[in-house]
Amino acid sequence: MIIDIKTLREGVSSYEISETAEKLGIEIEDLKFKAPILASVQVNNMDEKLTVSGRVKCGFETICASCGCAFKGKIDYAFNHKYVKGEAFPGGELNKEALDEELLSKDTLDLYDDIRQAVLLAVPEKAVCSEKCKGICPGCNKNLNKEKCTCKTGTIKPFAELKKLIKDAEAKKGKM
Ligand SMILES: [Zn+2]
Ligand SMILES: [Zn+2]
Repeated sequence: MIIDIKTLREGVSSYEISETAEKLGIEIEDLKFKAPILASVQVNNMDEKLTVSGRVKCGFETICASCGCAFKGKIDYAFNHKYVKGEAFPGGELNKEALDEELLSKDTLDLYDDIRQAVLLAVPEKAVCSEKCKGICPGCNKNLNKEKCTCKTGTIKPFAELKKLIKDAEAKKGKM
């Protein structure tokens, strides 16, 4: 959604946006957005500056980084971007103190860029299905959320595994 700064009125303009992740250009490995992403955005147009503040909300489906199950999560994330208009700084140099400000060199502002950035920041890097997720037992590969295992927590028994594999393989052979 492109906003023309030249024709944008002074003060605050509000936008309610509902758009698919695809249209917003959001692509995250192993993560799907089943419904449109909702964003309410306020653009405050001042003499030399412009602020974009808003909130993005959406649900997503992904794979738990700990136990590997598919689960649904939610994003509710507030963002705030400050821009300095290009003409205020003809040389394109920003004030050194203004590190949190971006230079707006064009006459347009793409709100989709701000929304995309916010969603990417809001998605957890390692999403887990629950704070209490017990993960997968390194010893027997059981999903400990669903089953109990008899391994001592945290101990891996490579030889026991190996023996079992050999036994299984022999059992298969015997059947054939
Ligand atoms: Zn999990
Ligand atoms: Zn185990």
